[in-house]
Amino acid sequence: MSGTFRPSTIMVTGGAGFIGTALVRRLLAATGAVVVNFDKLTYASNPAALAPFEGHPRYRFVRGCITDRGAVDAALEKFQPDAVMHLAAESHVDRSIDGPDDCVNTNIVGTYVLLEAVRKHLANRQESDSFRFHHVSTDEVFGALGSDGHFSESSPYAPRSPYSASKAASDHLVRAWHATYGIPAVLSNSCNNYGPWQFPEKLIPLMIIKALGGEKLPVYGRGDQVRDWLYVDDHATALQLVLTRGRIGESYNVGASCERSNIEIVHTICDLVDDLAPAYAKGSRRDLVEFVADRPGHDHRYAIDATKLKNELGWSPKEDFSSGLEKTVRWYLEQSDWWRGIRTYRGERLGLAASAAAQIR
Ligand code: NAD
Repeated sequence: MSGTFRPSTIMVTGGAGFIGTALVRRLLAATGAVVVNFDKLTYASNPAALAPFEGHPRYRFVRGCITDRGAVDAALEKFQPDAVMHLAAESHVDRSIDGPDDCVNTNIVGTYVLLEAVRKHLANRQESDSFRFHHVSTDEVFGALGSDGHFSESSPYAPRSPYSASKAASDHLVRAWHATYGIPAVLSNSCNNYGPWQFPEKLIPLMIIKALGGEKLPVYGRGDQVRDWLYVDDHATALQLVLTRGRIGESYNVGASCERSNIEIVHTICDLVDDLAPAYAKGSRRDLVEFVADRPGHDHRYAIDATKLKNELGWSPKEDFSSGLEKTVRWYLEQSDWWRGIRTYRGERLGLAASAAAQIR
């Protein structure tokens, strides 16, 4: 393990998103650093999750887009961070398939703009080795696995969706800016996250909300796609470790060794919602499952080998999947005010009958 890096000011891009809010919370609680949240506040952001940080003496917020060089330069100039943790992204695979523009602009062009701004920022600093650029990425860059094997840090890149291709491109840019310009970069590639504040277009919150309202539960193909699931706060802990103790130029895979097929996830959610919100009177919510045409290019299986992160940095996930999922289901049941009004991009109403939320026990 290399020595511990202790930044005094950390700029987090995408700090208003699902993982970003968990990370900002973690950094404010577990470090003494000033945390600057640089976020465009797109549809996927969670301003309500930021409310507890308002007025915190070490929290700053900048509304800005990472493709806007002037805005990024101004934030770096004003706050003089000694670390940038880059999470801002268009993160939804289905959206990236429906219209890849935003995804390519933010994930590729935005990362390029940020790297160039950081390069200029470092040129003005005395010591570039007291700086880190942490690029936060996904296991989807590695493509799909068959029924065996795991992704390691040296697995070849083989992205298959516009989202994963754009994240792969951003990983390559970060490595190239490290090798060519000496940007002190670390990378991490995580499996699927779940937990509070995830925008309700993603599998787990979508299924919780639909199950609660007794709506059909659309499952792609036969629901046999397998993902490794990580509780979001465990990811935030891993990100802090990679930033502060990861070796420059290295990447770290983050995974929970918690493989579940999509249909197993949906069935478990149905059982939890049946138990916690029993108002639905038409039998088991499992009966609401409806198999729909598969997503084009849908990767069959992702699985992460997180040995490097565990052995080198001493990380392990704290949350067990069944307790983490129950915690998550309870959170969504209790936070119906937040998600009830949110509509999906297809214009479909995600809200449910107000009475359903009142049945939680
Ligand atoms: P999210 O979609 O919930 O949040 C993204 C945040 O980025 C939002 O607050 C949004 O406003 C902001 N943003 C988007 N475009 C921006 C731009 N152009 N400029 C500034 N801010 C912008 O995403 P998430 O699930 O929290 O994911 C965060 C990061 O982690 C992403 O880079 C994603 O690729 C990666 N990741 C996510 C998962 C997962 O399961 N969610 C798994 C592995 C890796």
